[in-house]
Amino acid sequence: MTLTGQSLIAGQWLGNSDNGEFKAFSPAHNVPLETNFFNISVNELELSINEAENAFLAYRKTTFEQRALFLDCIAEQIIVLGDELLTLTQQETNLPLARLQGERMRTVNQLKAFAQVLRESPDSPMGLKVIDEADNSRQPLPKPRTELNYLPLGPVAVFGASNFPYAFSTLGGDTAAALAAGCPVIVKNHDAHPGTGELMARAALAAIKICAMPLGVFAMVQSKSYNISHVLVAAPAIKAVGFTGSLSVANALKATMVKRYEAIPFYAELGSINPQIILPNKAREQGARIAQTLCQSMLMGNGQFCTSPGLWLVPTGCKGFEEEVADWIGNSLSDTLLTPSIIKSFKYATSQRSNMDQVSLLAKGKLEHDFHANAHVFACSVDTYLATLALHDEVFGPAALIVRYENEQQLLLIIDKLEGQLTASLHGTQDDLDSAQCLTEMLQYKVGRLITNQMPTGVEVCGSMNHGGPFPSSTNVRSTSVGTHAMLRFLRPICYQS
Ligand code: NAP
Repeated sequence: MTLTGQSLIAGQWLGNSDNGEFKAFSPAHNVPLETNFFNISVNELELSINEAENAFLAYRKTTFEQRALFLDCIAEQIIVLGDELLTLTQQETNLPLARLQGERMRTVNQLKAFAQVLRESPDSPMGLKVIDEADNSRQPLPKPRTELNYLPLGPVAVFGASNFPYAFSTLGGDTAAALAAGCPVIVKNHDAHPGTGELMARAALAAIKICAMPLGVFAMVQSKSYNISHVLVAAPAIKAVGFTGSLSVANALKATMVKRYEAIPFYAELGSINPQIILPNKAREQGARIAQTLCQSMLMGNGQFCTSPGLWLVPTGCKGFEEEVADWIGNSLSDTLLTPSIIKSFKYATSQRSNMDQVSLLAKGKLEHDFHANAHVFACSVDTYLATLALHDEVFGPAALIVRYENEQQLLLIIDKLEGQLTASLHGTQDDLDSAQCLTEMLQYKVGRLITNQMPTGVEVCGSMNHGGPFPSSTNVRSTSVGTHAMLRFLRPICYQS
């Protein structure tokens, strides 16, 4: 399939070299790929926004069944893209084929899950309608009939992440949730996988045509220029923003959004260090095994998960734990990261930690190529951790920090100082967990998902999932970006009184 390098706007492929162009990058070979992708102009962006506004008038009137058919059709059209999609994404990301196959299925199932939710409750999203009947005999005043239901917000801007080229990207969770809610979507495609974005947009366009949806219901814009992202989130017609990525880019977009006349919701799902707390009995009984599982979880996808375990709280003298970590990490092979800028940030952060006096480098993996990232595990004391704010930041890639604690009091001090997290895990025997109630109580106020005796990597897509958490793991603590409840982010309540 030949790529055009263009953007999908109002059902047409637009863009040329007038506004500059960029290439995708091959992490495996450390060279740019061939295709030129064209930065769209501000005029073209404005066209996509106007078309989304027009499309909203028709799309919001579609029945839930029509939207469900549309979502199912997008899912089918992703499958129709076939192996070419996988091959191209692999070139752009160097993520393993099996991982991409799994993520493609997850993305397809995510779309179908929203379709199913729409079908299960055809006259109110997720059956949330509430009716209070009238009571004319009520004294001193009659009670009116009131009905609470939900309306779509309007056009939504979506920014995907580099590390999930399908599930958190062009036709990922935010897009599926917004379309299910009845909102047109404009995706600013991630420039780490522009070809993947183009193929996904083809799937969306095919589904729009098959289902006779308004052409402006979905647009995908390509640009390496930051300005396009800022013009998009500032546009008055945009009524919500879904973003997956780093805190620094989220802050930059937020700075633009605060200048808007109309404040709109900004659902940014960000990074996290996902603390892993090993309780004393578990550490004593299974220290080496936990060490091994933590290393495997951290090395998964070369650490490129927002749920990667980055902070390991381990009791001092935990037999075999650090030896096992040193062994696993020391024998691990380096691998690529998604983009040169992610590699650069990883190398900067790990060299900073390596140069800290109170922090030791417990183990590092073998570096096969300079443009690879090798695993790093550092260690420090509780006092150092508490005194060094830089150690609280996410290092995106294969890195983790062990903090050696002496007693529960110290654990409580650390938990108290933790910033908001997507997840945290408690690893303990039943005795450990029974005596850790105070800790659990504190910890739940810091996280979006509290896990017992399991690793944080792997996010189940289901109705009971919460993927989000207190700031800075996300900018909206009251919502999830994974699972069917994600649709609620793009709806607003309305009360009909009669
Ligand atoms: P990112 O660092 O946020 O970058 C996103 C895009 O924004 C890049 O194209 C970047 O371009 C661009 N950008 C940089 N500065 C900008 C500015 N001032 N204004 C507008 N755009 C700007 O994201 P990423 O590299 O895709 O993702 C890695 C992060 O996402 C990690 O922190 C990870 O934990 C998080 N993540 C979170 C979740 C979740 O569900 N919570 C899921 C996946 C990933 P350049 O590359 O040119 O800088």
